[in-house]
Amino acid sequence: MMKTHPPGAHVGAGFRSLNDNQNGAPQQRTRMDILYFLILILTVLMLAYKRIPLLVAMAIMVGLTVGWTELRHLFYVPSWFRFANGIVAVILIGFSLTPLRRLLISDRLFSVYRKALPALSSTEREALEAGGVWWEAELFSGRPRWRNLLKMPAPAISEREQAFLDGPVEELCRMANDWEICDKHRRLPDRLWDFIREHRMFGMIIPQEYGGLGFSAQAHSAIVMKLASRNLTTAITVMVPNSLGPAELLLHYGTEEQKQHYLPRLAKGEEVPCFALTSEIAGSDAAAMTDTGVVCKGQHEGREVLGFRLNWNKRYITLAPVATVVGLAFRALDPDGLLGDRKDLGITCALIPASTPGVETGKRHMPVGAVFMNGPTRGKDVFIPMEWIIGGQERVGQGWRMLMQSLAAGRAISLPAVGVSGGKMAAMMSGAYARIRKQFDIPIGFFEGIEEPLARIGGRTYRMDAARRLTLVALDRGERPSVLSAILKYQLTEGNRECLNDAMDIHGGKGIITGPRNYLAHDYQALPISITVEGANILTRSMIIFGQGAIRAHPWLLKEMAAVRDPRPEARKAFDKALFGHVGHFLSNLVRSLMLGVSAGLATRSPVSGPTARYYRQITRMSAAFAFTADLVLVMLGGKFKFREKLSGRLADVLIHLYLATTVLKRFEDEDRPQEDLPLVNWALDDSLYTIQQQLLGVLANFPVPGVGRLARWIMFPLGLPYRPPTDVTGKAVARLLLSESDSRERLVEGVYISDQQDASGQVHTAFHLAITATRAESAIRNALNEAVTFDNYERLVQKAVESGVITEEQATTVRLSQQASQAVIEVDEFTRAEIEGYEEPGFRPAVSENVG
Ligand SMILES: Cc1cc2nc3c(=O)[nH]c(=O)nc-3n(C[C@H](O)[C@H](O)[C@H](O)COP(=O)(O)OP(=O)(O)OC[C@H]3O[C@@H](n4cnc5c(N)ncnc54)[C@H](O)[C@@H]3O)c2cc1C
Repeated sequence: MMKTHPPGAHVGAGFRSLNDNQNGAPQQRTRMDILYFLILILTVLMLAYKRIPLLVAMAIMVGLTVGWTELRHLFYVPSWFRFANGIVAVILIGFSLTPLRRLLISDRLFSVYRKALPALSSTEREALEAGGVWWEAELFSGRPRWRNLLKMPAPAISEREQAFLDGPVEELCRMANDWEICDKHRRLPDRLWDFIREHRMFGMIIPQEYGGLGFSAQAHSAIVMKLASRNLTTAITVMVPNSLGPAELLLHYGTEEQKQHYLPRLAKGEEVPCFALTSEIAGSDAAAMTDTGVVCKGQHEGREVLGFRLNWNKRYITLAPVATVVGLAFRALDPDGLLGDRKDLGITCALIPASTPGVETGKRHMPVGAVFMNGPTRGKDVFIPMEWIIGGQERVGQGWRMLMQSLAAGRAISLPAVGVSGGKMAAMMSGAYARIRKQFDIPIGFFEGIEEPLARIGGRTYRMDAARRLTLVALDRGERPSVLSAILKYQLTEGNRECLNDAMDIHGGKGIITGPRNYLAHDYQALPISITVEGANILTRSMIIFGQGAIRAHPWLLKEMAAVRDPRPEARKAFDKALFGHVGHFLSNLVRSLMLGVSAGLATRSPVSGPTARYYRQITRMSAAFAFTADLVLVMLGGKFKFREKLSGRLADVLIHLYLATTVLKRFEDEDRPQEDLPLVNWALDDSLYTIQQQLLGVLANFPVPGVGRLARWIMFPLGLPYRPPTDVTGKAVARLLLSESDSRERLVEGVYISDQQDASGQVHTAFHLAITATRAESAIRNALNEAVTFDNYERLVQKAVESGVITEEQATTVRLSQQASQAVIEVDEFTRAEIEGYEEPGFRPAVSENVG
């Protein structure tokens, strides 16, 4: 029972004087009112920050209102404060009563929402729904649960897989001569094809029961990465039958008969597959294909059967010129209603032997920088029986869904492996070359100007590999994260481009002059290939990553969309739940952004201690800021956001770097926190956080509604902009790792082919090691004789230094070998005009060093 007291009878210790003398202390009273105001605001903020469920929050506010009313007898509690607590409680009660909020809000919004939602075609819906959702949902939540991530196992491959990498893959790398393949033969030589077949490399994803290797995604990626570090043509030739194509589709959707027929043949390389989706008209918009198959009856093996009459004109198809079986995507039409009422049955996939009458293959395109088999395929009035449809008649019209599902995982494996391989090669070769190559008597790597690109290569490569490894762990555990796969494809191929651009600059003329001594040029030339295939990068960044991510990974959006599309009456209830869930999510992220901003991230805890703890907090902070901004954009633009690709692209960058930063932190833990890797970790994380900040600012500066961006910026960055690009000190430390022999450098480039031969890359490894070994002796000579050792004077200086006891005979030998090895590395190829212009003999032959390359 509440007691009533006459005014002035309150006896609270700290507030006694105020209560005793209500008129006497107006200033003190104002201060107390401000304090109470802050208590009220903080209580509401904490409820939102901690995401307290509505009912619990309501109970807390009711309890507080009653409590404060009781306590007013003990000390001063302003009546407005109790009243305000009560109002908040009433609002929360209103929101907790589903029938009331439906009547007042959600049922009214239901039809508005339904009208505003853009219609989705079936192909758009299938693309959106393909695959699953994993860590990206945590990033969209604004409150990533780090412990779940840290519980994931470290990447690992089995002994059998490792033996395969060390055996046949190593051997294939040794056999693959980049210059000969690309410039002399302009194709993969037969002995390499035979070796690939013999070791069943076309069957990496095919289970052992069908005669394949049955490797994990981790091993599959490691194999492609190693091959790509030696020769891209070899890597792509091995990669394509193992990525999105006939084997993958058969495994998931094929009939048992199709599996039994094709999988053993594909594994042994008796069949060479290609998969033809792209046509002249339909490039990025592949679902708009005009290649058709009309349901009809025709002759097959002497019988009249139901099937399709196909006409197609596809281009850019890898392996098509040599394929024995063509995987084909076409639009199935049934004008005569032989299969039912529908005339347009949708995209369908079939496997067609290349020898079928009317099929045309054989011609080649010449992709830039690589000579893998690629070309057009055409078909004119080709009749195929229904049993050639992948999965049989019941899969007619499901081709797009099948392709999108396969892409959801496949995109994270092959091209990202090629991308990381490029980064590792750039790191390894640029670090070595910058140590070997001297200008102004100093290895160029010690100039700050070269330190910058070296640091970028090192930091990016560490981060790219971290992303590759963690995503593969998820795939091997059965996840199919379609948005993360798109992120990997986009970001790791872009990262490759950035690393190779920097590597070319560091190498100067050495990178430009082609010939057997050049280990960079082909990869550099071929960069646009991985940028363009499996979803061209601009489209992937601007349309897919955030567009699909927002719908799939957002905790409420898909549920809202599903509810408004559902014609059943109970859909309104589901909509109400999703809508209020969404509102709570938005408000919570608004509050979290503000509180994490005001506390500079300290309001949240890190799951680890030590040098990376602050990064966990900052990523949590930026995750809340991202979730808040994403919702603001979605609320303001509705369905139109998919046409605002500049905003969507920037938000994609934020999501990408939130994910990359996550993977860096996990990698550091997986490798037992090696302290010497901290420069790489810091570079990668500082760069990611800075990119996140700048891209968020870009979104806020271009907000569709004036003023909102400025307000949101104040909420997210109340104390100013917290992140800076990696410092010069960090950059120097990363560059030094690349310029020296260390465990850190080895970890960074682990998994690429390291040539032990006297070929272009083998020479660089030898010279690099010798240059480091000879450093001390060369410094001693320079200090004693006041002259720097160069290719021209080393013999004279070495002799003099030995005679005067400055260096030992052993050191003299090292200096001589180092100088000779370095000289061999910096040499480039020369050709006679006849050789280049091709009128002496067919094919190019280098004028120098037949043993090289
Ligand atoms: C070497 C090579 C091998 C290939 N192998 C195969 C294969 O084996 N099988 C197969 O089926 N296909 C293959 N392809 C085709 C490849 O998938 C396509 O090239 C790719 O889908 C892009 O189509 P496009 O080249 O016609 O470019 P376009 O679709 O014309 O695109 C041109 C540019 O516009 C951008 N763009 C398009 N739409 C949008 C949008 N909405 N928003 C923003 N930007 C947009 C793209 O990102 C790109 O930058 C291969 C291509 C090459 C070059």
